Amino acid sequence: TTETEVQLIDKFEVLPLYIPREKYVHKGSYGHSLIIGGSHGKIGAVTLASSACLRVGAGLVTAYIPACGYQIVQTSLPEAMVLCDANEKHISDISFEIEPKAIGIGVGLGTEKMTVKALEGFLKQNTHPLVVDADALNMLAANPKLLKLIPKHAIFTPHPKELERLIGAWEDDFGKLAKAKAFAKKYNIIIIIKGAHTITIYDSYVYINNTGNPGMATAGSGDVLTGMLTGLLSQGYEPLKAALFGVYLHGKAGDIALSGLGYQALIASDIVDFIGDAYLDLF
Ligand code: AMP
Ligand code: MG
Repeated sequence: TTETEVQLIDKFEVLPLYIPREKYVHKGSYGHSLIIGGSHGKIGAVTLASSACLRVGAGLVTAYIPACGYQIVQTSLPEAMVLCDANEKHISDISFEIEPKAIGIGVGLGTEKMTVKALEGFLKQNTHPLVVDADALNMLAANPKLLKLIPKHAIFTPHPKELERLIGAWEDDFGKLAKAKAFAKKYNIIIIIKGAHTITIYDSYVYINNTGNPGMATAGSGDVLTGMLTGLLSQGYEPLKAALFGVYLHGKAGDIALSGLGYQALIASDIVDFIGDAYLDLF
């Protein structure tokens, strides 16, 4: 459409966004990230997101999970701290005394009634930069009045099905883009439409990512992106820059992982393993 600015994102667009690591720093300089998610049988989503968050450079990561996930996360990811919900299997009340710099919410979260309540309570008092993914998006779609509570410049990361739940069905790609842009404008948020060519929308801008491959169509690969975006926000990347840089780096890590694995064998934790190489590839 005429008023849309479309830009292709590759290495030369993201390189200037990179925030170098200074010498005189400590872990507090790169922000405390909070990953809120998980439910019985879906704790792995939080482990993946939290490890991606650490690998992308967050100084500290806390996972907020239902109580059944305590040993799982502590054992599989010793670098992460864990806060447990009072409920065993589902998050029922999101309250914490830490001061995170950024929060990612939704991975593996489930959509139980008590969790919808918890999400509402959380959004009412949240003042932190936010990444909203997966079941958090699904609960917002099912309870649209909660959308009013979303902070400006929050990053939404729907895959096509989650997007459809949020904005309704579309006719063709132009219709999808128009609807997503209107939604992003209405709530003053950034939308990352995930897929083979992930599209980031903010205001009247549309950015098309050119990294990533079909090997990334595998369980947990979106959870990894959520962790990366949260970790970038907590390091001080502005939301749109975090979105563009994070989507690029996630795809690049997947591309590098591919060369030793191939499309079929690549799994989400491989993407995490190659985040460092994706950074190194920038220079
Ligand atoms: P999710 O469905 O939430 O696990 O997210 C899937 C992730 O994998 C997103 O970041 C997608 O962009 C990426 N992905 C899925 N399929 C492909 C594909 N065919 N090509 C490139 N990236 C993909
Ligand atoms: Mg997902």
